[in-house]
Amino acid sequence: MQDDALKREFRRRRSAQRKVQALALAAFLAAFLVSRWIGMGDGYLIFGITVLATGLLAWTMHNWRCPSCSRYLGSRIVIHRCPWCDAELR
Ligand SMILES: [Zn+2]
Repeated sequence: MQDDALKREFRRRRSAQRKVQALALAAFLAAFLVSRWIGMGDGYLIFGITVLATGLLAWTMHNWRCPSCSRYLGSRIVIHRCPWCDAELR
């Protein structure tokens, strides 16, 4: 992949990562507030949050990868180079 295309793809993945994390945070908060509002049991809330967290984790493992070597980039969101293949990502 060309450098520009690689950086563009990284920007797309980083942007998607931020959006999905913000959505997940909003969903966690909404689930908590709705469960308190309608008096739903904690078991349902814990189940819902577990499903959301598992989905977020699975999506992150799929999305947060180096566009050059496809290896997982780890937990850092601020990253300039791939720790595996040293590809410049920004
Ligand atoms: Zn890489």
